[in-house]
Amino acid sequence: MDSCVFCAVIAGEEPAVWVEREEHAVAFAPLAGPALAPGHTLVVPVEHTADLLSAGPTALAATTALVQRVARAMKGALGATGTVVLQASGADAGQSVLHLHLHVVPCWPDDATTHWPERRSAHVVDGDPHALLAEMFE
Ligand SMILES: [Zn+2]
Repeated sequence: MDSCVFCAVIAGEEPAVWVEREEHAVAFAPLAGPALAPGHTLVVPVEHTADLLSAGPTALAATTALVQRVARAMKGALGATGTVVLQASGADAGQSVLHLHLHVVPCWPDDATTHWPERRSAHVVDGDPHALLAEMFE
């Protein structure tokens, strides 16, 4: 995908601060905007896929496994006592780069933040949302 900035990073056409590069997944510092915490890292599948819904099993497995190793490295190298993983799929979720990516954010006791949303959705679903979800698996 020519216009994808994460594909350009993976191809070496855009600079990045690398944390790890593997066959199916990579980890690097956020490209733009302020990091949510020192060491905030993006984990991305090498194969271009728009989001969580479109990801194939290899990309998904490699990406989530690397998320775990990055979180362990945050504990080992940075002394993080917790991590938050953030992932948005779709523009309405706030996804800005349409290449699957997971934000791994280290947390410490003195953070005074958990990175959980402060507001609840006001959207109304017609019916019991969990029953509707369960029907999709029948
Ligand atoms: Zn891409």
